[in-house]
Amino acid sequence: MKKWVYAFTEGDGKNKKLLGGKGANLCEMTQIGLNVPPGFVITTEACLYYLDSADHDLPAEVMGQVREQMLQLERATGKGFGNAENPLLVSVRSGSALSMPGMMDTILNLGLNSQTLQGEIVQTGDARFGYDAYRRFIQLFGKIAMGIPDDLFDAEFEMVKQAARVSEDVGLSADNLQEICDLFLQLFQAHTGRPFPEDPYEQLELSIKAVFNSWMGKRAVDYRREFNITPAMANGTAVNICTMVFGNRGNDSATGVAFTRNPGTGENRLFGEYLVNAQGEDVVAGIRTPKPIDKMDVEMPEMARQLAVLRNRLESHYKEIQDFEFTIERGTLYCLQTRNGKMNAPAMVRSSVEMVGEGLIDRERALLRINPDHLEQMLYPQLDRNVQAEPVAQGLPASPGAAVGQAVFDADRAEHLGRVLGMKVILVREETKPEDIHGFFAAQGILTSRGGKTSHAAVVARGMGKPCVAGAEGIHVDVQKREAYVSGQLVREGDVITIDGSNGNVYFGEIPTVEPEFSNELNQLLSWADDVAYLRVMANADTPEDASRALKFGARGIGLCRTERMFNAVDRLPIVIEMIVAETAEQRQKALDRLLPIQRSDFRQLFETMSPLPVTIRLLDPPIHEFLPGEEQLKDDIEKLEHLKNSVQGLEVLSGALMLLSQKNKKEEKIPEMVDVALIEKALETKALMLRKVRALTEINPMLGHRGVRLGITYPEIYRMQIRAILEAEAECVAKGLEVHPQMMVPQVCSAEELKWVRKYMDEIKASVEQRSGQKLSCRFGTMIEVVRACMRADSLARRADFFSFGTNDLTQATFSFSREDAENKFLPMYNQNEILKDNPFEVLDEKGVGKLMQLAMQWGREVKPDLSVGICGEHGGHPASIDFCQRAGLNYVSCSAPRVPVARLAAAHAFLNNR
Ligand code: ADP
Ligand code: MG
Ligand code: MG
Repeated sequence: MKKWVYAFTEGDGKNKKLLGGKGANLCEMTQIGLNVPPGFVITTEACLYYLDSADHDLPAEVMGQVREQMLQLERATGKGFGNAENPLLVSVRSGSALSMPGMMDTILNLGLNSQTLQGEIVQTGDARFGYDAYRRFIQLFGKIAMGIPDDLFDAEFEMVKQAARVSEDVGLSADNLQEICDLFLQLFQAHTGRPFPEDPYEQLELSIKAVFNSWMGKRAVDYRREFNITPAMANGTAVNICTMVFGNRGNDSATGVAFTRNPGTGENRLFGEYLVNAQGEDVVAGIRTPKPIDKMDVEMPEMARQLAVLRNRLESHYKEIQDFEFTIERGTLYCLQTRNGKMNAPAMVRSSVEMVGEGLIDRERALLRINPDHLEQMLYPQLDRNVQAEPVAQGLPASPGAAVGQAVFDADRAEHLGRVLGMKVILVREETKPEDIHGFFAAQGILTSRGGKTSHAAVVARGMGKPCVAGAEGIHVDVQKREAYVSGQLVREGDVITIDGSNGNVYFGEIPTVEPEFSNELNQLLSWADDVAYLRVMANADTPEDASRALKFGARGIGLCRTERMFNAVDRLPIVIEMIVAETAEQRQKALDRLLPIQRSDFRQLFETMSPLPVTIRLLDPPIHEFLPGEEQLKDDIEKLEHLKNSVQGLEVLSGALMLLSQKNKKEEKIPEMVDVALIEKALETKALMLRKVRALTEINPMLGHRGVRLGITYPEIYRMQIRAILEAEAECVAKGLEVHPQMMVPQVCSAEELKWVRKYMDEIKASVEQRSGQKLSCRFGTMIEVVRACMRADSLARRADFFSFGTNDLTQATFSFSREDAENKFLPMYNQNEILKDNPFEVLDEKGVGKLMQLAMQWGREVKPDLSVGICGEHGGHPASIDFCQRAGLNYVSCSAPRVPVARLAAAHAFLNNR
């Protein structure tokens, strides 16, 4: 017979796919001797069977196996399920292989009915407690198993609360709670058309099915889609049945959530919150604001000591920061859940380095536990410390980083303004719930007026790496009116606010932000990454400023310098235009002669900044008309100039006429000539020339037109100037005793003949520069590989090139025959949605097509030149998945934008470790 159900004492703690994360860890904790209330797990296989079955049936043996396990629980606890004297109560909890916080629901206190309730009251001697447990159960069961909206229960609850004139739930008496139970039972009957089920096994079966159903609920499905959770990662949810323990049995009872280390900073110290005399869901829901865990030392010293022991045992067993739930029932500590803690990037980095120091983990583990993409968070802006601003409200620093945006007060508006209209918004709520999740995605940051650091808002925001301030109590939100009062001042939707999730401050208006500095721990970690990585990480940088930034981020060279950025600077563009509109080769040479010293000094500064690291310069790539104004613009200018010329001539006529009229001829009475007609004519001439040029240069398909090496061959003087500038800059550096490694590369190459052509320029110029400077030059000569033919002709290209650099942006366009802008604006989203293409190939390197071409090109290239160095520049070079591919394919380096460099360094280490 198939086993669908495993006791906590027998389940395999490593098998999260079968038992879900929560279930597997409950088993593991039980088996290493931690105090977990007895229970068992119904497998994800049962869930899939159930969901696949035609009319939603549990596998035949499941309830039988559940009954066997319930008998075990009865034996272990000495209580009876449905026993009117001494009832056993359980929770029914969901949990899939990947944690999806708050995405599926839990039912507490199951097993209560009109009779067992009385038994529970006698057992505890506490009627208030009994009714409180009962009303929670009716509501949770009603909502989760029968789909009765929470609001209906909440409304009844509030009514009783108001009638009793109490403000906090704890102020309700046993009678109040009994009344609530009665109202809830009536509500249940009215809404479902049937009485509340008294049979505890019926309760249990309905609940198990409800948890299984929740796997396909909208919330869970949305969540999986948003985080790309595939069936291979998590398929179905398990159900955990766990004996109830009560944190609401008086002042010697409590419940809490804690992290073994601070998830905001990584500090090696227990971090968490607890509530005395409360049930677990109270903490998570943010209904009461909990106390920081430090308080427990004073309030419950013995419990604090036991908690410290629990913390150490969790960390030394899991070798990872744990996020755990505990409950204290009358002086006994129980652990109800543990999982790997989600921390922000700074905390991950700090704890990685510290755990290595403590001997808890090794360096490899320290690197591998951090997702490279998360490092980007550390590069998040912080509030500029030099700006003096008074916070208008303060909450808890729930997820660090600063965010600025327009206030919005519900998730739908956040989605509309943020996602659809592309505005920056801050989602401001009293508290958040799982159904607000789409608002989180659209917002820059989250601000709540209730709840602690472990409230839904805080947990979700941290997971996403978005700044969050939680429990800022000075804020009152009116969702209907789309406004809020912050410390008495009105904030309307659209008003700009700033939040600082690192200290909990809230400000009106926009506070400037600054880039953060690298911590010592980050540098340490990244230097370990560099030690293990095989791929060299370089940066794309076009200016000396870019280059110093790239160095700060740890780039080991420049893999792509786009010279056109230098041409576009305001002081150069006029010379570039002059060069383009030149009618004769001499005119063009004159402009180029003026550009040469400027380019030379650009390159010299780059080499100096990066010395002794390599700098790769790409010769001019874009079609030259990109440096000229557009045709429409020019026509418009010409029309205006014509008007102006007429007006000025009119003024001259007027001035002449006035002189005739007054018969005077005094100079000072002449209407002043504002503008010289000759000047206008000169301008007109230039514009007309440019227009002619623009028309002559017009191309149907500029991206496939006169650009790159084609330009370099048809206008050799442009490439010659650039090559000379590079080589002279090298000579100047060498003369100063600097070690430099310049490399130049040719874009858009499709044939070895093209390379031969450009290489000839280089060889000539090199000889002349060497001769004149007396320095030996080392500049290497390479080619971009970004058209399909270049891949196919890689062997012959390798004979003429010292290195290859894959330009995967263009190569992707060329491979798919997609123009990027058209693809992304028109059909790619639909292609992705329908999985005609799984990913956007401009974001995620297409291994099967583009990658295949790269592999072929590399293989053929290296057959000719075994030590051919091969790299990738373009956006893909900074993405961990593409970097992993580059490692597998045998590339030598990747190059990406400076801020991605730390991400790429860690990803390069991962790529090596994961492909050993
Ligand atoms: P989630 O996945 O949303 O955290 P849980 O199944 O962990 O859901 O349960 C929700 C809340 O109920 C938590 O605070 C948890 O500690 C509490 N809880 C669950 N089972 C029990 C139990 N057997 N006894 C006491 N509290 C419980
Ligand atoms: Mg939980
Ligand atoms: Mg290109």
